[in-house]
Amino acid sequence: MELKGLNFIGNELSGKGKEMFNAINPANNQKILPGFHQATEEEIQVAIKKAEDAFIIYRNKSGKEKALFLETIGEEIMKLGDDLINRCCEETGLPETRITGERGRTVNQLKLFAGLLNEGSWVDARIESAEPERKPVPKPDIRSMKKAIGPVGIFGASNFPLAFSVAGGDTASALAAGCTIVVKAHPAHPGTCEMIAEAIRNAVKRTKMPDGTFSMVHGISTEVGMTIVKHPLIKAIGFTGSFRGGKAIYDAAVQRPEPIPVYAEMGSTNPVFILPGALREKKEEIAKGLTASVTLGVGQFCTNPGLVFYENSEDAKKFKEKAITSFSEVSAGTMLTEGIKNAYKNSIESIKKYDGINFLAEGKPGEGNNGTAYLIQTDASSFLSNEKFEEEIFGPSTLNVISDDKSELIKAAKNLKGHLTATLHATEEDLKNYKELIEILERKAGRLIINGYPTGVEVCHSMIHGGPFPATTDSKTTSVGTLAINRFTRPVSYQNFPDEFLSDELKNSNPLGIWRLINGEMKNAAV
Ligand code: NAP
Repeated sequence: MELKGLNFIGNELSGKGKEMFNAINPANNQKILPGFHQATEEEIQVAIKKAEDAFIIYRNKSGKEKALFLETIGEEIMKLGDDLINRCCEETGLPETRITGERGRTVNQLKLFAGLLNEGSWVDARIESAEPERKPVPKPDIRSMKKAIGPVGIFGASNFPLAFSVAGGDTASALAAGCTIVVKAHPAHPGTCEMIAEAIRNAVKRTKMPDGTFSMVHGISTEVGMTIVKHPLIKAIGFTGSFRGGKAIYDAAVQRPEPIPVYAEMGSTNPVFILPGALREKKEEIAKGLTASVTLGVGQFCTNPGLVFYENSEDAKKFKEKAITSFSEVSAGTMLTEGIKNAYKNSIESIKKYDGINFLAEGKPGEGNNGTAYLIQTDASSFLSNEKFEEEIFGPSTLNVISDDKSELIKAAKNLKGHLTATLHATEEDLKNYKELIEILERKAGRLIINGYPTGVEVCHSMIHGGPFPATTDSKTTSVGTLAINRFTRPVSYQNFPDEFLSDELKNSNPLGIWRLINGEMKNAAV
């Protein structure tokens, strides 16, 4: 596919902006053609107005129509073939196998939401029948269901150029909910963004969705994104990226005259606890597994295990020796952008300066934008006295935090902020002895893992990829899996509505055959 470097203002391609930028190949810092037009204020305004106009039609499309639309987006993405894979690898430095896998995940994610829509019960339809004879006051007929919230602004991250970008989880869940969307393309992979936008535009046309269901604007200035966030017609934001970016967008959104929800999925350091039995029985296996998880994709995962806690012991010393050996063998790999490489280097330099920090191992050095692996150590009391140690270092490093005993380990766990995940390596005996730790971690993370690694996020109905602040700006939700749809909905009640004015989901005859809570009982039957 020949790239044009234009913005997608609904179905119209537009390049009115004079400000141009290029994608940069992180492997050699060379510009990649073509140049991309940064969107103008006027183009963004038109895109958002179109999103509002389209919303009035799109929100009332049936679940089956929206499901077909999502499946068609998936088909159109697959039609892009190797052009997509090649461009994406060139822009991100990520290997072909990773990008091919991520494309599969992205398409399957769209299919998963299509399945949810075809089944239909996700709207959480509730029906309470009227009791006109009730004393002292009659009970009205009240029904409720989830409805699309409105046009949504979406920001993707650089490290998942497909699965958390233009047609990623935020887009799939917002479109599934019945929202129209305006995407801010990520400047680190604008060509990939354009290809995916073209696939969505084709799907809009093929399935006859209204013009304005999907728009995408380019920008290297944060003003482009902020114009979307502050626009009064935008009713929610889906964001995946850094804490800095997510918090800035959240702050702007809550300061609007009409504040709106921001679902910002940000960085996390994903604490791992290795308990004494596991340390005794599986030290070699865990040292290798942990090294692989920390350095996977040059450590550029939001689920990267950046903190590892264990108690000091002879087993701990032997575990450390094994981990040092594993880390020393890791090759450096190309990072996503020069900016990310420099930020990683600076974070490593900064942490070196703090008291209580000791560098245990360094992977093989690399040139240019390559990131080197680091195994770093501190003690629990230093960790407890410096909150910088808990901040994400986006890259292939991890900080081992060694405590004197169980009570110090528990104290460190209690002191943790919010994370996407928390992991325990434990024997059955450990789990019995550290039950308290599980209770603590339930309050700290969106997903708890036993005897595994946090990298690798299954896209399914029960996945929670979220967590308390600062991992996200809303701990009650997830950005991966079908529950993500709830972020872009609002529950609405209908009191004493005649049947013909209700959505099919709430009609007496239950024409869609969905499961509904009828007078307190789950049924897929007529009222
Ligand atoms: P990023 O720099 O925050 O960029 C994400 C998007 O936000 C970009 O489109 C960026 O546009 C925009 N943005 C950033 N700051 C902004 C601001 N102040 N105002 C308006 N827009 C702004 O993040 P990244 O480097 O792409 O991604 C890496 C980070 O994402 C890591 O921290 C990683 O842990 C996190 N991540 C989290 C998850 C998750 O699910 N929790 C998943 C993947 C990645 P500009 O570039 O134009 O500023």
